[in-house]
Amino acid sequence: MNAPDSFNEPIVRVRELKKDRVNFVLENVDLAFANSFRRVVMADIPTVAIDLVEFEANTTVLPDEYIAHRLGLIPLVSANCEDAIRYTRDCTCLSQCSYCAVQLRLDVTCNDDNTMEVTSNHLEVVPFQDDFIHDNLEHGDEKAKRSQFFGHPVGKQDPGVPPVLIAKIRKGQELRVRCVAKKGIAKEHAKWSPCSAVSFEYDPYNKLRHTAYWFETDSRAEWPVSENGKEEEEPRDDEVFDFNAAPNKFYFEIETDGSLSPEDVVERGLNELQNKLANLLLGLKAGPDEMLEDWTDSQPQAPVAAPTNGGSWGEGTGGWGRGSSPARTGAGSGGWNTSPGAGGSSSAWGASPERQIGSWNA
Ligand SMILES: [Zn+2]
Repeated sequence: MNAPDSFNEPIVRVRELKKDRVNFVLENVDLAFANSFRRVVMADIPTVAIDLVEFEANTTVLPDEYIAHRLGLIPLVSANCEDAIRYTRDCTCLSQCSYCAVQLRLDVTCNDDNTMEVTSNHLEVVPFQDDFIHDNLEHGDEKAKRSQFFGHPVGKQDPGVPPVLIAKIRKGQELRVRCVAKKGIAKEHAKWSPCSAVSFEYDPYNKLRHTAYWFETDSRAEWPVSENGKEEEEPRDDEVFDFNAAPNKFYFEIETDGSLSPEDVVERGLNELQNKLANLLLGLKAGPDEMLEDWTDSQPQAPVAAPTNGGSWGEGTGGWGRGSSPARTGAGSGGWNTSPGAGGSSSAWGASPERQIGSWNA
């Protein structure tokens, strides 16, 4: 039989598609591609997540930074994130505006004798106070490209989805917080990942012997073949081992946290991978000298200027590992992601009762 020209083109066959997960078979690609695709899907697709939290009142039993961290992990609707919002580093504003951020408020007080649950459903998206100034200064069509519930907590509009629990409060306790959600990718912080799980399997019969199963008496009895075995031919007992065989069929399962749909995640993941390869090719074509120039140009000139998200893991702000003494918090060097106040001066965490507004990176 003559193979058609498209015989070796990648094939995607979706086996199951639900609101938050997709299961598909990817054929005619190699293991390196499958691995790269998985990494890109997990770490390189932008979403929005709460990145800065200002506490106006917190009389709950949980400390500020505990709540800030929880707020950061709440999935927010990020559909069309690529075009609907810009990175703050690409914006002309100083730290946040409606073009590069979404503002949310949490204002909850318990007034009765029962324990009250503060959940993601209490988070309200509110416009920035100085919105009209931004609209005069900024130019862009980002805001027009947002869907109705862009930046809202996932599941808030859907009674079937249980909300994310933030804290439990009792009578007289209060939580009043201003949050700023920003665009980012999971390479910087896992809270920006659109996926909760990405996995793939290949070669269910282990014909390629990429794995050596540990077993007591019979590996076949102790290692049952997965469902994906139905997709492939069972090897005969007398089959000779093929040294040159390579896997080309991969069984993927992608589960999202609801910030993006699984279709979006797959599509944008492929786009992102394509962009990366295109950049690599471009870099190779440019020649070594030009590449070096480009590289030095693109390096930040002053690594001291800490980014808005304080001490993430990088140079300059004393990332994790270095200076492990807890006393360093006062020195303004900041631990990872919970450095007190973007400005650093607003007193150390939890120390003085007169502290009014301490902002924390979620
Ligand atoms: Zn901005």
